Amino acid sequence: MRVTRFIPAVLFGEKRFEELNDFIDALFPQKERYGVYLIDSVHRQTGLWNRLKPRSRDLALEVDASAHEPKTQDVDALRDEILRRKGGELPRVIIGIGGGSTMDVAKAVSVMLTNPGSAADYQGWDLVKNKAVPKIAVPTLSGTGAEATRTAVLTGPVRKLGINSDQSIYDAVLMDPELIQTVPADQELYTGMDNFIHCVESLHGSAMNPLGKPFALQAKAATEDFFLKEKNYAELMVGSFLGGCSIANSSVGICHALSYGIAFILGYRHGIANTIVFNQLEEYYGEDVGKLRRMLEKNKVQLPTGVTRGVTPEQLERMIQLAYMLERDLISALGPDFKKILTPEKIARLYERM
Ligand code: NAD
Ligand code: ZN
Repeated sequence: MRVTRFIPAVLFGEKRFEELNDFIDALFPQKERYGVYLIDSVHRQTGLWNRLKPRSRDLALEVDASAHEPKTQDVDALRDEILRRKGGELPRVIIGIGGGSTMDVAKAVSVMLTNPGSAADYQGWDLVKNKAVPKIAVPTLSGTGAEATRTAVLTGPVRKLGINSDQSIYDAVLMDPELIQTVPADQELYTGMDNFIHCVESLHGSAMNPLGKPFALQAKAATEDFFLKEKNYAELMVGSFLGGCSIANSSVGICHALSYGIAFILGYRHGIANTIVFNQLEEYYGEDVGKLRRMLEKNKVQLPTGVTRGVTPEQLERMIQLAYMLERDLISALGPDFKKILTPEKIARLYERM
């Protein structure tokens, strides 16, 4: 039985960040217990770190999202640090403040505080047994939809795959559109394109259902408005949240399948990897590829070229196999015979052009 979950508590609006502590207390009133802020280290520079008001027992820990996307060992290490510093006592709440990487780390830490072993043991669907510590998301970069999904995407020793479970969805979200205004223009666009591409792929796919569709349509429109018309940050932020709400009721498609290898083998980050791939998928996604190019142009962002230059035949083979691992998404995009349409040769030709 696939039950769709929505975030049950949302605080939205400019300057709402000032109300973070009241929001926490209203939802989780056990004030004698401590809370953990997991905050993107970039906020030492943006000034957001100094606006946190941790109480004496609270912990504020940095998540470094600048070097690489989250790994299972980062999550295990944070869990161990929290339990060590607090002698095994569990927090009342975890607050994840940052982009998709930090929000996913906070989700995964909340799960790993109450479940034994390594985060790598829970990459997959519904593998989490024990109830997680409650958590609140504070997005500071919009587009992944991580603030609204039940997935915490992690790179493990064997694969890049999310912890997908009812324990890895936020209990609440605080959205303050001012917080996303310090993001550099290229990052803003690439993460925004992740949302745009989720929407295009899901709306084209057979897995989309009528519950997911209105969210995806609105999220796509919001992203296009922002990057082609007027930079309304509230609209972009809401668009990301709605994109996340649609994901559980749909699938991604060819772009996410092909971007897997670009990220996992060549080390590109998720948003840029998707943008590079989508730029070559006109044959499948038609005029939306033209829209993506217009958004790049208008926002003066230049995609890297020669991305797959120097890829060895072994790496290429691996990338093709990785793409086929997203079977559910490829079935949604192309039907059960997807391998006859998107053949290994076809994938290789698409990769060559990137
Ligand atoms: P990110 O979180 O990796 O951050 C990218 C960069 O932006 C980092 O250097 C970060 O420090 C910086 N940044 C964040 N907020 C900022 C701010 N306000 N001002 C200045 N800089 C800021 O980027 P992302 O694209 O949001 O997240 C990508 C991750 O999300 C990937 O790991 C991807 O797999 C995952 N993802 C998760 C889901 C989900 O449903 N859980 C969906 C899609 C993608
Ligand atoms: Zn994505």
